[in-house]
Amino acid sequence: METPGNLFVVAAPSGAGKSSLVKALLELDSHLQVSVSHTTRSPRGQEQHGREYWFVGKDEFARMVERNEFFEWAEVHGNRYGTSRPAVEARLMAGEDVVLEIDYQGALQIKQLFPHAVLIFILPPSWGELEQRLRRRGEDEPEVIATRMANARHEVDQARHFDYVIINALFETALFDLKTVVHSQRLKYAAQRRAKSSVFAALNLV
Ligand code: 5GP
Repeated sequence: METPGNLFVVAAPSGAGKSSLVKALLELDSHLQVSVSHTTRSPRGQEQHGREYWFVGKDEFARMVERNEFFEWAEVHGNRYGTSRPAVEARLMAGEDVVLEIDYQGALQIKQLFPHAVLIFILPPSWGELEQRLRRRGEDEPEVIATRMANARHEVDQARHFDYVIINALFETALFDLKTVVHSQRLKYAAQRRAKSSVFAALNLV
């Protein structure tokens, strides 16, 4: 599918700082929108339906899978998560750039369906730092942290399939790197041709 909008997919193990980086990026870039996923997990803390996620039951999620309403979906840490196909496609067709903050399984599905998608993996600077960040967050029990660390080893191994890797040692540097990737993608010939088709047509460029 050729769309004037660019699709960015950001994945990382939990604790690498993915959500904070994407949030900061969205505040700086008004041409970028995040897609709100559907999930079968329950809301945590201050999370609101329609803001962080669309919280749905397992049956509703299964119906959406059957109706092919997901661009991608995956099971992560025992819950299901999916990206709504109509919402993302409509935005990309309208020329908006969209960012998906999803796990690596979903990212790899997206690359198959949408080869123009730009896959970005956020790495922690070390295992020790990742564990410390998970503990500092204070959200999870020690067993949950141990599971997340075990999962992270497998997740990090998937970074080789991504287009870009950002090491989040220093937040501001990682944010700069993320902005640079987004900006560079927008300047690629093929992306410019899709986004600025009238300029290219006026210049007789194909
Ligand atoms: P959490 O429950 O901590 O918000 O998210 C758990 C994991 O699921 C994170 O890695 C998050 O990026 C991922 N995730 C969130 N939404 C989606 C989605 O729509 N699809 C996929 N494949 N993963 C998602």
